[in-house]
Order: sequence, then C-alpha cells, then structure tokens
Amino acid sequence: MRRYIFFAVAVMLSAQLLLSCVPAPQAFEQSEFIMDTVVTIRAYGKRAPQAVQAAFAEMRKIEALASAYISGSDVWKVNNSPGQMIEVSADTLAIIQLAQQVSEQTDGAFDISVFPLVQLWGIGKKDEYVPTESEVAAVVASVDFRKIRIDADKLLVGIPEGGMGIDLGGVAKGYAADRAAAVLAEHGIKHALINAGGNVVVMGGKPDGSLWRVGIQDPRDPNGYIAVVRMNTGTVVTSGDYERYFIKDGKRYHHIFDPRTGQPAAAGVIAVSVTAPTSAQADAYSTALFVMGVDKGMKLVESLPDIEAIFVTEDGEIVVSSDFPDIKLQR
Ligand code: ADP
Ligand code: MG
Repeated sequence: MRRYIFFAVAVMLSAQLLLSCVPAPQAFEQSEFIMDTVVTIRAYGKRAPQAVQAAFAEMRKIEALASAYISGSDVWKVNNSPGQMIEVSADTLAIIQLAQQVSEQTDGAFDISVFPLVQLWGIGKKDEYVPTESEVAAVVASVDFRKIRIDADKLLVGIPEGGMGIDLGGVAKGYAADRAAAVLAEHGIKHALINAGGNVVVMGGKPDGSLWRVGIQDPRDPNGYIAVVRMNTGTVVTSGDYERYFIKDGKRYHHIFDPRTGQPAAAGVIAVSVTAPTSAQADAYSTALFVMGVDKGMKLVESLPDIEAIFVTEDGEIVVSSDFPDIKLQR
C-alpha cells in the first residue's frame, strides 16, 4: 500500500515538474481595420502568426463579398441590378438566408432591406442629418425583406425594384468572425480570441486551462462593464446605441433602425448582448432584439432554446434571460 502511495506521489510530482517545464504556448495578436471596425485576433501556438494572417484574409474576403459599399461586391451587384437575379457566392447566400430566417422569426424587426434607410440617414458618415417625415416615408415604402428574391439552388439573389437595397451590416461581422474562427481551427489553433468591435468569439479556453472572460461593456461608460461572461468556446455579440450615433437638439440618433417607422429604433433599449451557437446568429438577433425591446424580445428569446440575451434599458435596468450561461453581473 505504502509503495502505491509513494508511486502515486512520485507520478504527481513528476507530472507537475513536467508541466512547469512546458513553456506557455506563444501568443500572437494582431489588429486590423475590417468592416468599419477594429478587429483583434489573438491565437496561441507556433503556427499562430500564419493562422491569424489567414483568418484576417478570410474576413477581408467576406467583407469584399458582403459590403454594400465596395464596388463589385455581391451585395453591390444585387443593389445595382434591380429586376435581375444576380449570382452570388455561397458565403453571401448563407448570410442572406440566415438574415431572412431571423427576419421571419422577429416579425421583420431584423430586415436587411434597410439599405435605403441607412443611406438616407447617413449615420456615422459625413452627411448624417435628420430627414423629414416625408423623406423617411418615401424610403420606408421600399423596406421589406419579403420582397428579396432568392433562388438558393442556383445561388441567385435579386431585388425586384429600384430604390430597394440590401445592407448586411447587422449580420456580416458575426458571419466573418465565425469564418475566422473556422480558419484558425483549420490551421490547428486550439486557443484563440476574436474581437470584431463587440462581436466576440472565443475558442478552446485559455491556454492555461481557464475559461475566457468576455466583458460586456457598460453602454454609458466605455471603461466599465455591466457583466462578465465566462466561456470555453462561444460567442457574445452586442448591439448598442453608443457606437454609431449623432446628437441633434439633445436627441440621440443611432444606426439601428426600426424597419416599420424608418426611425432609429426606440423600444427603450440602449444595448443588447446575445449568445448563440454561431456569431452570425448572435449578431442578427442582437440587432433584432434591440429593435423589439425587452418585453417582446425576451418573449422570443425564452422561446428559442439556444439564444440567450442581456438587455440594458434606457432607465439603466439590466434584464437577463433565464438560461444565460455563466454570466456575472458587475453591479
Ligand atoms: P454594429 O454594426 O455596430 O455591430 P449591429 O450589428 O446592430 O451593430 O448592426 C447595425 C447595422 O445593421 C447598421 O449599421 C445597418 O447597416 C444595419 N441595420 C440597421 N437596422 C437594421 C435592422 N432593423 N435590421 C437589419 N439590419 C439593420
Ligand atoms: Mg447585429
């Protein structure tokens, strides 16, 4: 018996010794400006630098397909060819199909045909201004995700009439973050963190075996957190009124629109963070829930088994869905 104990202790000690000799895997971190935001990727291991380069290349590829503002992109071609069906890449089709699904599920709170609204308001651009009611009304008439035509088998997408347009700004960043994570994994990366301006994806826990801690920013304090989510592998995506907005006559005009009114969504929410099986889903739902508000939004979240959300209301109230995994409020 004593011999076994001795043996066990010896094994434990040598394992510990071995562990302390194994150097921590090398970290490699880089930031790039992609999709109108700073994207930071951190990965661990000898092949991390090549893997991170490949992940950035993949994100730039998605941007070049999905941005409405890059001439020759899939979305640009669709927007500039009303009345025609345009062949798009499998990636673009996948983003649009997911978007349409979320639109159906949220009764149109999420709607990628908001492009004419985004252009009219120009929020975050030089020509941002408050349009008149009749200007808004004229444009809202062209916003309806049900009018977007899709032939999935042939990879074709089209808009039926001029004045309409697609803007994937509410979902493409999440999709790109998912693709970046997949590319890192293809390169053999086990532990990584991707932060695409509030779209966070983590993989495999930290190299020391502990969980990643994803902070959820306080919407009114850039240095504060309202909550911390601990996860091994997963995603948390936030939509808020504090990243892109302008203030006119004391009123805040931000970049998430209610497709029905054509105005910046005003459902009493200032930020929503979502966790979901993919970052693309989390991205689309966070935008949709922002438009829906706490009551309607929470009802939907509670009916979807794998979507969880935390809302911050304009009164500073924080509302968390019942199964949000491993979340700790900071106040
Ligand atoms: P961010 O891009 O700041 O991460 P979101 O994911 O919430 O934030 O996306 C906001 C962008 O989505 C807007 O800039 C616009 O391009 C687009 N958008 C605005 N309102 C809607 C909406 N109701 N449904 C779908 N997309 C929207
Ligand atoms: Mg979004």
